[in-house]
Formats: sequence, structure tokens, C-alpha cells
Amino acid sequence: MKQNSTPSKPRDWLFAQLPDKQIGLAEAIERKQRNPLNICLREDAISPTDPNPDAPACYVSRNGGVIQLRSWGDVSVNAVTHELLHLERYIENSIPQLTPKSSSEERWKITSDIENTLEHLSIVPLEREYGFDPAPYWRATFKSNWDNLLERDFNEFALKKNAMLGYTTLPLAEDAQLEAQVSKILDEIGFLEEAVEFRSKMNRLKPEKAKQLAYVCKSLGISRGDVELQRYFPQNWAKKYPLPNS
Ligand SMILES: [Zn+2]
Repeated sequence: MKQNSTPSKPRDWLFAQLPDKQIGLAEAIERKQRNPLNICLREDAISPTDPNPDAPACYVSRNGGVIQLRSWGDVSVNAVTHELLHLERYIENSIPQLTPKSSSEERWKITSDIENTLEHLSIVPLEREYGFDPAPYWRATFKSNWDNLLERDFNEFALKKNAMLGYTTLPLAEDAQLEAQVSKILDEIGFLEEAVEFRSKMNRLKPEKAKQLAYVCKSLGISRGDVELQRYFPQNWAKKYPLPNS
């Protein structure tokens, strides 16, 4: 269903392109939030280093889940499924989410990088249940991210953050050769041992996301006082919590 102008009912327009299983997932989220999902266009500028500039995004607003598409053109069902799985965790399962206390764009970027990494460990494997093989997408994305890591002049914090988080999600690419290449890069920049320990602790803490987040903040030197957790409950976005002790 190709369309280049804004559809009159974006939610219905999107749902008409989704298989029944994804519609079931979306409707369960809507029942929990007691509101229809909001489908709109992304307004953020495309970053020149974004390996997937056409990818949709999502976030949770006071009224519930928002899915942002890049255009009203062709929709990738796989990409929309991915965003629905993010929203299922935040809205239907009320999984805690890390946010900065300040509204600084740079801090939001850091906490959303951390969130994406942790959430991807849980949701990417679920894409198979919807008929997709996520590995090729992540293989290409990670190759581009690691090339970037070497080429760009990151500060010490950003380098460590990207190295630790990137190594943690690397198994999603299911690529032994890439794993070996990345281990070599980490060894060269002096982070291999720390990254191995970080990844194994992240996997161990996976059932307890709040503790996982506390561990990430401690490892990256993010002060507990600068961040908080928020959880979605219907008519209570967002309930705020302090970070637990790690
Ligand atoms: Zn994602």
C-alpha cells in the first residue's frame, strides 16, 4: 500500500499492512495503555553515521506508545515488528527504562543507547517467532558500527560505552568471523578483558533489568544521581524510581 502523503488514519493505514500476529501484539499494547498507538513521522535529522537511516523508531509518551516512521512510503514489517516488541516490554510488561534527570539531548542519547542495547538482548531473538531472521540485519549494522568506532574520534567515555555495549549485543549477529575481528579490535584498544566480563555479567543479570542498568552505570562511570528509572503503568507515565545498588 504505497502512499506518499499522510494517510487520514495513520494507525489504520499501518495496521492494514501488518500480519494478524503483529496486529494481535499491537492491540494488546493498546488495551494495556487504553489508547490507540500513535503513528507519525520521525522528525530527527538523519545522522551521517546511522547504518539504518530508514529505520523507524519508537518511544513511550504520556498517552502511550508512539511509532515513528521515516516516510509514508513502503513499510518494513520486520522493522515495525521490532518497534512493537520494544513497546510491548515498556508498556505491556512495565519493564524499567533508564532516563537522565536532565533534559540534555546528549544525556538522552546516552541513556537511549544503553536502553537499546539491553532491550535488543531480549527482543531481537523474539523476531524469529514472527517469521524473521534478524541476524543478517545485525551483522551489517554491527560491521558498520565497528568500522565507525575505529574511524571516528570518540572521547574516552564514548569509546568505552560503544565498545562495552557493542560487544554485549554482538552475538545477535551470529557471526564467528565478526566476533573474532571485534575481539582483535578490543584487544588493540585495551578493552577486551573488561568487555568479556561486562558481557557475561550483563547476560547473567538479564532477568533483572534494574540491576543490569545499575551495573552499566557503575561500569561506565555514570553517576547514580544523574539518572533514574521509569516504568509505564496505565494513567501513570511515568512512575520514577531510583537506580538500585549494583
Ligand atoms: Zn530497537
